[in-house]
Amino acid sequence: MSIFTKIITGEIPSYKVAENADFIAFLDINPNAKGHTLVVPKKEENKIFDLSKEDYTSLMDFSYQVAKAIEKTLPCKRIGMSVIGLEVPHVHVHLIPLNAMGDIQFMQKVALSKCEFVTLAEEISKNF
Ligand code: 5GP
Repeated sequence: MSIFTKIITGEIPSYKVAENADFIAFLDINPNAKGHTLVVPKKEENKIFDLSKEDYTSLMDFSYQVAKAIEKTLPCKRIGMSVIGLEVPHVHVHLIPLNAMGDIQFMQKVALSKCEFVTLAEEISKNF
């Protein structure tokens, strides 16, 4: 069972920003930038291009809505999107508010307090 499935079942906590029957979005615990969010299918699958075309399209639709909510919450040049999965083998889309190239490069990290995570998740969630 992946760490993201444990988040989906509530076994471990997360800062949730959006959810429907098939997908969940929560803040990345080690964000590249403030607002870095992961969009995850509830059905555990390792690689994004192993999803059915229908599930892939639904994931992109949900990610689109989450990206709009992030952009409304956090002024930035644009929302960047990345799919990696080398650390957690459960499909997830990274949505990252971008102001500079470094924000999408997974080397710089920002530290947020628990209180900042909670507030941010609430704000994005309200705009979803
Ligand atoms: P990837 O698999 O795409 O290389 O990276 C996995 C991402 O998941 C990383 O950005 C990492 O910070 C994030 N991550 C790993 N474990 C957890 C966790 O337990 N909770 C949350 N919210 N994010 C996590």
